[in-house]
Amino acid sequence: MTPTRVRLFDATLHYRPGLQVHTASSGPVPHLASLYLVVEDAESVRGVGEVRTNIAYLNGLSTAEVTGQAYRALEDLPWGEGRAAVLDTLERDRSATAPVRALAETALADAAARSAGCGVCDLFGVTRPARRYHTNQSIFHGDDDAMAAAAERYVARGFRRLKIRLGLRPPDADRTVLLRLRDRIGPDLELACDLNGAWPTREVESGLRAFAEADLAYVEQPFGADDWQAVAEFAEGSPVPIMLDETVTSPEAVERVIAAGWRQHAHLKIVKLGGIDRVVACGRRLQSAGIGVMVGQMNEGGVATAAALHAALALTPDHAELYGADGLVDDPSGGLDYGAGDVGVAGAAGLGLTFDEASCHQIAEWTDA
Ligand SMILES: [Mg+2]
Repeated sequence: MTPTRVRLFDATLHYRPGLQVHTASSGPVPHLASLYLVVEDAESVRGVGEVRTNIAYLNGLSTAEVTGQAYRALEDLPWGEGRAAVLDTLERDRSATAPVRALAETALADAAARSAGCGVCDLFGVTRPARRYHTNQSIFHGDDDAMAAAAERYVARGFRRLKIRLGLRPPDADRTVLLRLRDRIGPDLELACDLNGAWPTREVESGLRAFAEADLAYVEQPFGADDWQAVAEFAEGSPVPIMLDETVTSPEAVERVIAAGWRQHAHLKIVKLGGIDRVVACGRRLQSAGIGVMVGQMNEGGVATAAALHAALALTPDHAELYGADGLVDDPSGGLDYGAGDVGVAGAAGLGLTFDEASCHQIAEWTDA
């Protein structure tokens, strides 16, 4: 697949009223800002990639910075030489940030799979005719009753895995919220929590012991992203399993986690690592080192969610966090559907989605690129 027309779009996406993204790291998030790349070849085979750009709380990059970087990088890429040459250039260009690489790699993977008449997950040497995978749901920060009501709505829809966002209250108050929620949902559902690095290292062990009573599948990122001393300290185990997220921000960080002897869990996202291919490669490295993997995402639109779904289909991880597009009311993509505890795509080729570019704002176009 050799792109002859390359276009960059952006769009603002909104969740239904009452669904408020709010975590210890993000604060309240009023909308998602998305950047889309559409690549097309002479036969009109089309591929679409998406990255969310208002995630400075994760990567320190503003929407304007990511958009500017994408514009400059896309303009210079050797589109006329095909997918492998574009990816090779991105690999060698150290200035290409993870979101920009993810945007290009996703669009090219979608187009390459459509061209070959297969799904994106098939590009990684697996065959998964059923394009569905289980997912958790997130209970965002809010008052006690709102959090419990959100949990009950998800359980009523058939979701069996919930992750609650903590770290905005004192640990004792968080523990009360957690135990109350466990009481409400009963012992059979999987419950986890995400602290987004809220605890100082010296409080992690006692905090985990205090949370153990809630029978958690894992506590995500209890300590700071750069706290490698804590990674070494809890490498072999802890009172509650730990899932690293903010610590694992790049393929280099994945290698460092493996070298540190980490034997717990790690949460991989396309926008952190720079592409579906990198999530699959890093996931396989972690799995072969005996580390549990979660394939996840930010709150993101349907295209980015479908990309994460295909990475999950390729890796079949224990944990998957693919709820990002659930509840969006103005997503330009179609074909992603949330079922009873899972998510799937309708189409068999590429990412399996349709894309309505007319509902987006075009930023740039390069033809005969
Ligand atoms: Mg997290």
